[in-house]
Amino acid sequence: MSAKHFGRCSFCEDRVKPDVIEKNFFRRDKCQCPACEGIIYECRSPLCHDYAKGGDYYDDELCRWCVESSGGMIKTAAELIIAAIIAKKIL
Ligand SMILES: [Zn+2]
Ligand SMILES: [Zn+2]
Repeated sequence: MSAKHFGRCSFCEDRVKPDVIEKNFFRRDKCQCPACEGIIYECRSPLCHDYAKGGDYYDDELCRWCVESSGGMIKTAAELIIAAIIAKKIL
């Protein structure tokens, strides 16, 4: 059985070396976390080496840490827009 590189599992947050349980040519390889036995996939973010959660109907594109960091960026952008609107109303 082939194995992947070390990365954090989005389920248990452990640094693990997942087992490939289904090799996919066009899609991402289906992997299993050896610590919590959760189904995980490589994160789509090009600079990320962590693993996203797999589901019965939907597989996450990004790991939980990338989701959190992108969510944080969106929030910051929204706050900037709101701040700009408030500033314009004052002027
Ligand atoms: Zn895990
Ligand atoms: Zn990621």
